[in-house]
Amino acid sequence: MKITVFAGGTGSAKFVRGLAKAVPQKNLTVVVNVGDNIRLYGLTICPDLDTILYMFAGILDRVKGWGIAKDTFNFQKMLKRYGLNPWFNLGDKDLATHIYRTNLIMEGLNLTEATKTLAKKLGVKTEILPATNNWVETRIVTSKGKIHFQEFWVKKHGKPKVLNIIYEGVEKAKPNPKALKSIAESDAIIISPANPITSIKPILAIPRMVEALKKTKAKVLAISPIIGDSPVSGPAGKLMKSLGLKVSPYTVAELYKEFLDIIVIHKTDKKYVGKIEKLGIKCFQTNILMKNLEDEERLAKFTLKVLNLSP
Ligand code: GDP
Repeated sequence: MKITVFAGGTGSAKFVRGLAKAVPQKNLTVVVNVGDNIRLYGLTICPDLDTILYMFAGILDRVKGWGIAKDTFNFQKMLKRYGLNPWFNLGDKDLATHIYRTNLIMEGLNLTEATKTLAKKLGVKTEILPATNNWVETRIVTSKGKIHFQEFWVKKHGKPKVLNIIYEGVEKAKPNPKALKSIAESDAIIISPANPITSIKPILAIPRMVEALKKTKAKVLAISPIIGDSPVSGPAGKLMKSLGLKVSPYTVAELYKEFLDIIVIHKTDKKYVGKIEKLGIKCFQTNILMKNLEDEERLAKFTLKVLNLSP
């Protein structure tokens, strides 16, 4: 059995951790958003790739949902001593990842090769693929100009009014050929619970990605990151509203309707089932809230069951 998972950061990491309990690591390929990537202090930082990498390596800080467990922040403290404003949180161990990755890229490796090296050194058997090797940056258009998504969310705490969201560089980006191959050869594609606007859409906006999802013989399933009229966490709700979208599991289904076969929504969201099925998408209900490791595994197993892929 081979499964390709589309992933962002925190919500995806929880789901994939559950999935990896039911499916051997080597049978999974995770295609990860790169729109969150940022260059700071001369370093190439890839937050979503690292969250997935650390999760598989068993070192992810489960409480924060990002970074390395029990990391220290002396680097940040020293930057502050120099009078700088280190608004983007980088732990000391985490910093080693960014330095090593940046060195690998400077030596001539592309992002896929650099990620593969990091994964191998951390003993990760799953193929973790950046959606593209090109630089694509999610930028938030505010009344005071365009800012990087991280600047909007981390530095400005998601406060500025959002006028638009753009994926800079995406038109010229090439999809990761390994991701296209994996999509074509998988038994199932799972769009994990992730921010549709800043994690999944930046992947789908890469030329040929949607086409690949439409063409594959594999069933494509998504798990809603929205319960009722709000996301489980993060800025998905605010960003969807700013684009004139209603925040609901139905909107998630609609955003993915071109290629989606199945969506899994929360047990309390029965009112959306009929409307979603009118889009030609099968809709299943269960508890999609992952509060602990048991929840993650239970949701992963439910997903495999509706895909007829139960181990
Ligand atoms: P960000 O945190 O919004 O930048 O984006 P990510 O793509 O990293 O992941 C967060 C998304 O996953 C949010 O839209 C959440 O609503 C969703 N999410 C987080 N935890 C859960 C959960 O336990 N269940 C479900 N269904 N979605 C979740």
